[in-house]
Amino acid sequence: MAVAASTQIEHYDLIIGGENVPAASGETFETVSPATNQPVGRMAKAGLEDVARAVAAARTAFDEGPWPRMTPLERSRIMHRIAAILRERLPDIARIETSNCGKIIVESRGDVTASANCFEYYAGLATQLWGEQIPMNGPLLDYTLREPVGVCAQIVPWNFPLLMAAWKLAPALAAGNTLILKPASATPITAVMLGEICREAGVPDGVVNILTGPGKEVGEALAGHPGVDKVAFTGETATGRRIMELAAGTIKKVSLELGGKSPNIVFPDANLDEAVDGSLFAIFTNAGQRCTARTRLFLHQDIHDQFLGEFVRKAGNIRVGDPLQHETQMGPVISPTQAHRILSYCQRAEDEGAELVAGGKRITEGDLGAGNFLAPTVFDGVRQDMHLAQEEVFGPVLAVIPFVTEDEVVQAANATIYGLAATLWTNDIKRAHTLARRLQAGNVSINYPTVNPPEAPFGGYKQSGIGRELSRHAMDLYTQTKNVVVNLNPQPFDWYGRWPEAPGT
Ligand code: NAD
Repeated sequence: MAVAASTQIEHYDLIIGGENVPAASGETFETVSPATNQPVGRMAKAGLEDVARAVAAARTAFDEGPWPRMTPLERSRIMHRIAAILRERLPDIARIETSNCGKIIVESRGDVTASANCFEYYAGLATQLWGEQIPMNGPLLDYTLREPVGVCAQIVPWNFPLLMAAWKLAPALAAGNTLILKPASATPITAVMLGEICREAGVPDGVVNILTGPGKEVGEALAGHPGVDKVAFTGETATGRRIMELAAGTIKKVSLELGGKSPNIVFPDANLDEAVDGSLFAIFTNAGQRCTARTRLFLHQDIHDQFLGEFVRKAGNIRVGDPLQHETQMGPVISPTQAHRILSYCQRAEDEGAELVAGGKRITEGDLGAGNFLAPTVFDGVRQDMHLAQEEVFGPVLAVIPFVTEDEVVQAANATIYGLAATLWTNDIKRAHTLARRLQAGNVSINYPTVNPPEAPFGGYKQSGIGRELSRHAMDLYTQTKNVVVNLNPQPFDWYGRWPEAPGT
């Protein structure tokens, strides 16, 4: 349980070795609501000593504890319990998630359900981890074992705090690993709650450790720690690069889910009403703070004006406001710094010649002035060489780019360092499947904005990442394959005594 609050706000400890503990230094930090910039929790601030304690706990739990040695069915039952508790406590968890990260309550409720789905999916896969039997000539029996990797450090961002943690924990636990989860400093509360739920569901002590603290110190120490076998990271591409460097020291296994600049391409033969609504969803949900946000809208010139007119009209009707209110359709962005950064991108886009056709400003009416609220923003006439067409803004800002030919749009869509996702709107079946192959993206959706259920693999091409989360593929990230060969008919081997004749004699 969270420690009793000494002021009005709740205090949350670290979770190490099954215990809620303060940081070794005794230090804490405040976490705030992006809607008010007022504190919603006080967190233990982990440091290097806590990293050492958490890694030692996870190491002991892996090397000596019951979790990797349990039957898969026992692990599966416990994981089903985690999902059941998430569902039972959905209203509370969703409210806290919204208070801490600012996403609207409807989306937070969806994230809790999606997190429970994720645990249920991997509870099923825990019992389906099969090796192979490999046919061999002669007396050899050869087979493979799928074994857990060991101690996993899992570092997650602030845009889907609970769901990103679930995507990490569920496959790692299913395979019998132990772990240390480090949430983003901006949104740490639901990660601690998830750690407590794991314990309550029966996950043994030391298997799930939660460290809240600064990425530069705690994240880096985990990524470089010799007691950690694997690092799984979701966040910015630049941070991912640093993690790879740190992990190289001990050749840790690394999986990375990084940034994106995903294209959304609309052809004249599409159902334009569906395309407008789907495109709004693809950019403005979670106030644009999605790695898979379709931030570049490629409009064929024949439908450009009609489509954009309707899109801008509907964007203007999105209800921006208090994310805890059910009616609200878009909440604040994560922090004043992020709001400033997003508006700087807008200013630069105007300076570079893009045309602002919606938003581009803070919303400060009434109570909203205290939070980080931005209007849904659209720039038309964006060129490939502009910053807005190349860099991840991570806010509710859309770049509209006109096109004429298929070749031209494929070339432009692929012309960034990223390759996370892409969407096509067309009713031409040949075009849809041909372009799905030509787009450099880990996830392509056709006539559908964006979806990431646990059954389908998720991850990036190019600098959007390494490895695939979700689906059966995620089990590859959290297992290693051991080959075992058995001689069923041992004969005297005598390699040195019966040396073969030289060739040609
Ligand atoms: P971030 O890279 O700043 O932080 C992510 C996590 O890494 C946080 O927990 C942070 O504390 C930690 N961290 C920061 N510096 C670190 C360091 N030097 N060493 C180790 N850990 C460090 O990202 P963010 O701002 O929290 O999240 C937004 C980014 O995440 C965007 O780029 C977005 O595209 C990406 N993202 C990607 C996916 C995906 O699945 N591909 C999903 C969600 C978000």
